[in-house]
Amino acid sequence: MQDFYEVLGISKEADADTIKKAYRKLAMQYHPDRNPGDKEAEDKFKAAASAYDVLGTTEKKAQYDRFGHQAYTQNGRGGSGGGFQDVDDIFSAFGDVFGDLFGGGGGGSRSQGRNRNQPRRGSDLRYMTEVTFKEVIEGSEKDIEFDTEDNCKVCNGSGAEKGKEPITCKTCGGAGQVRVSQGFFQMATTCPQCQGQGAVVKDPCKPCRGQGRIKQHRKIKLTIPAGVDTGTRLRVSNEGEGGYRGGPAGDLYVQIQVASDARFERDGDNLYSALAADYLMLLLGGEVEVETVIGKKSLEIPKGTQVGERLVLKGEGIPSLRGSRRGDLIFQVGVEFPKKLQKEEEELLRQIAQKRGHETKCGAKGSFFSRKK
Ligand SMILES: [Zn+2]
Ligand SMILES: [Zn+2]
Repeated sequence: MQDFYEVLGISKEADADTIKKAYRKLAMQYHPDRNPGDKEAEDKFKAAASAYDVLGTTEKKAQYDRFGHQAYTQNGRGGSGGGFQDVDDIFSAFGDVFGDLFGGGGGGSRSQGRNRNQPRRGSDLRYMTEVTFKEVIEGSEKDIEFDTEDNCKVCNGSGAEKGKEPITCKTCGGAGQVRVSQGFFQMATTCPQCQGQGAVVKDPCKPCRGQGRIKQHRKIKLTIPAGVDTGTRLRVSNEGEGGYRGGPAGDLYVQIQVASDARFERDGDNLYSALAADYLMLLLGGEVEVETVIGKKSLEIPKGTQVGERLVLKGEGIPSLRGSRRGDLIFQVGVEFPKKLQKEEEELLRQIAQKRGHETKCGAKGSFFSRKK
C-alpha cells in the first residue's frame, strides 16, 4: 500500500506549501468534473484527498509521522486508506484548495444529486492515543482534546441571519452549478455566485459569519478499558463533527497504540520477560523478587531449573478485553555467573567438582568432558 507521501508524490521533508501544491495538482488532474464516470480517477481523487486530510493538518500529520501509515489506516473507514468515501465530503473539507479554479473561493460543492441544504451527518473524526502496559492492565481515563466544527446553532447551519432565509441563487437557478466552455469541452463547474450552495445569503449570520459552521475545540474524558492492544479502535458516538443543517453528528474513533516497554513483550494476553537468575539459585532453588507491570512479586525457582526454561506467574499478564480472565507473565530463565570468585568460594567449588569426579588441578582444559569417556 502506498503511504500518504507516496500518494501525493512528495518527500517526507516537504513543507506545508509543497504538500498543498502537490494535492492541488492531483485534485485538478483527477477532478470528477474533468473525468466524468471515470472510477479510477475518482479513486485517485479520493486517495489524494485522504492523504491531504492528514498531511495538510499539522496535528494529524504529527500523529501520522509518529505512528506510521499502518497504524493510521488500520481499521479505518476502508476504501482509499480510511479517508473519504464521498466526493462531496472532499469538497466540503478542502473547498479552499480548489478555490480559484473551481468556483472562486469558498467551499465549491457539486450539487449534482445532492442538495447541500438537506440535513446530513457530520464527518467522523480520528484520534490516536498512546497507553502504557500499566494502563492496559488497569484501564485508564484520558483527556482527549481535538479541533472540530459544529452546526451553527444560531442559524441552524443556513448561514443566514435569524429570521432571514437564504434566497435562491439567480446565476444558477438554485442548481449550484453552471456550464462553462473550455476549448471544445463544456464543463459543469461550481456556481461562482453561490459557491454551489444553490442559495445566496444576503444577511449573514454573525456568529458563524455566514458559514453555517462553528469551529470548536473540544475536550472529552475517554475511558479506555483494560485489555486494549495496538490497533484497538474505540468509537465515541456523536463526538465527531456536528451534523449539517440539523443532521446527526459523526463519531469519534480513537485508535490505541500501546507504548513499548523494554522489560515486557506481549503476545495476546500473555506477557514475556527475561529473568537472569544467579547460578546457585538455579541449582538450589529459592525465591526471587521479579518485576511485574504493576510492581514487584516473588517468584519461586524450583531446584534444578535449567537455562531456557519458562517460569510462569499466573494471572500477571493482560486482562482479556472481553471476559475476566487475565493472561500470565512468563519468564524465560537465564543465568548469571559471578565474574570473579573469592578464594574461599573457589576452594569450595573445586571440592564440589572433585566430588563429582572432575579433574580440577589448574582447571585443566577439557577436564569436564573427559569425564564422559
Ligand atoms: Zn450561523
Ligand atoms: Zn448559484
